Amino acid sequence: MDFKLIDRILALGNLIGQARLAYIEADNNLQVSSWNKGAMDLFGYTEDDTMGRLLYELIPVKKRELINCKHTRLTTCSLLNHNGQEIQCDIFYAPIMNTKGEKFGVAVLAKDISGRVKDKASLKQQEQNLNDIFSFAPIGFYHVNMEGKIVSSNPEYAWMLGYESAEVVAEQVTDFATQIFFDKEKADEFMFSIFEAEEVIRFRCRLKRKDNSFVWALCYAKATRDESGRMDGFNGFSMDISDTVRVEQELKKANEKLKMLSVMDGLTRIPNRRRFDEYLGSEWKRHYRDKDQLSVILSDIDFFKLYNDNYGHQAGDDCLKKVARAIHDCAHRPADLAARYGGEEFVMVLPGTGADGAMIVAEEVRKNVKNLKIQHEKSKVHEHVTLSLGVATMVPGNDNSAQDLVAKADQALYEAKDNGRDRCVTKK
Ligand code: GH3
Ligand code: MG
Ligand code: MG
Repeated sequence: MDFKLIDRILALGNLIGQARLAYIEADNNLQVSSWNKGAMDLFGYTEDDTMGRLLYELIPVKKRELINCKHTRLTTCSLLNHNGQEIQCDIFYAPIMNTKGEKFGVAVLAKDISGRVKDKASLKQQEQNLNDIFSFAPIGFYHVNMEGKIVSSNPEYAWMLGYESAEVVAEQVTDFATQIFFDKEKADEFMFSIFEAEEVIRFRCRLKRKDNSFVWALCYAKATRDESGRMDGFNGFSMDISDTVRVEQELKKANEKLKMLSVMDGLTRIPNRRRFDEYLGSEWKRHYRDKDQLSVILSDIDFFKLYNDNYGHQAGDDCLKKVARAIHDCAHRPADLAARYGGEEFVMVLPGTGADGAMIVAEEVRKNVKNLKIQHEKSKVHEHVTLSLGVATMVPGNDNSAQDLVAKADQALYEAKDNGRDRCVTKK
C-alpha cells in the first residue's frame, strides 16, 4: 500500500468523523470489527458494547441482506436506538472486497435524517393549512400568468364572479384585463401599475361577473417572479365590498340632500340667507381679483304687516312663496342668485353687472311681482302686493367690503320706502 493511499484513507476517515456519519465494519461472519463515534451517537452502543457482536442485532438490516449483499444498498428506516430515541435514518451497506475481488466483510454508513423528515412533515402541514385557507377563506384568491390567464383561483373568487367553480374560471378566463374589469380605464390603470410596482398594489374597482353584472371589490395584487427575478405573473386577492359601497353611496346622497337643505329656505324653496352670505363672500373675492362690478338688489314687500293682519298668517306665507318664485324667475344668468334675506325681504346677487343693468333687473322684479296681482286691499300704495327695491353696485377694492355693498342697498331700499314705495332706487 503506498502512502498516498494511506493518506487518502485517513482523510476519508476524518471526513466521516467530521460529518458525524456512523461507520461500521463487520467480517464475513457479520461480527462487528469497527464502530466509530458517529455509530455510537446514532445507535446508542459504545464500541465496547459492540465488538464481536452480530451486526444485524445492532442495526435494522436483516442477516440475509447483509450476507447476500454484493453492491451498495440503501435502506431508509425508523428505529428505536439503544437509548430509546426514535430515529429516522438512511443506511448504506456494501461488501468489502480484497484486491482479488473476494468479499471479506461488510461496511455500513448511516445518517440521521430525523431533522429532514421533520422539516418535510411540517412543510406538508403548512401546505395543508394554506390549502384550507385557500378553499374556505371568504376572500377570492387567484393567480394570473403573463398571458393574462387565470391559472388558479379559489371557490370564493369563482363565486364572486358568478362562475360555477374555480376550475371553470381557469378554463374560461383567458384575458384577465378585459374579462375581469368592469371599467376599461381601471383595467389599463391596473395593468400599468402591476408591471411598474415592486410592492403590493391596492385598488378598488368593479369586477365583471360572468353574466356581465358587476361586484364592487377591494383588491390587492403583487407580481410574482421566477428564480432569475423576471416577472412571471401575479397573485391577487379580492374582497366583495358591495354592501360597504352601497352604504357609502346612500350616505353621500343623504349628505348632499342635507347640504342642499341647509342652504334652502324651508318656506319659499329658494336659497336662504346662509347661501346668500356664502355666495356674496366668494363673488366679492372673485370680483376683487377681476376688478369687476358687482351688484346687489334688496327688496321688501310693502305693508306686509297689514297683509298678514288682514288675510291671516297662512295667506301671508302663500303670498311669500309666490313673490319668492317671481323674484327667483328674474335671476336669468347662471351666476345670478336670488335668496330669501329674512322675513318679507329678498336679495339678489348679480355678478359682473353694473348699476344700469342691475336697475333693469330690479324693475323687472318689481313688475313681475306686481303682475302676480295678489289682492292687498289694506296697502296704501296699490290694490295688489308690491315691492320696494334698493340697488347698489361696487367694484370690490381695499377700502370697501361686501357688508358695505349690502348696507348701501339697504339705504337705497329705505329711500324707496320713503319716496312712496313700489319703486326702485339705486346707489352708485
Ligand atoms: P313696509 O312697507 O315698511 O315694509 O311695511 P311692512 O309692514 O312690510 O314692514 P314690517 O317690518 O312692519 O312688517 C313685516 C312683516 O312681515 C311682519 C311679519 O309678520 C311679516 N313676516 C315676516 N316673515 C313672515 C313669514 O314667514 N310669514 C308671514 N306670514 N309673515 C311674515
Ligand atoms: Mg321688512
Ligand atoms: Mg315690508
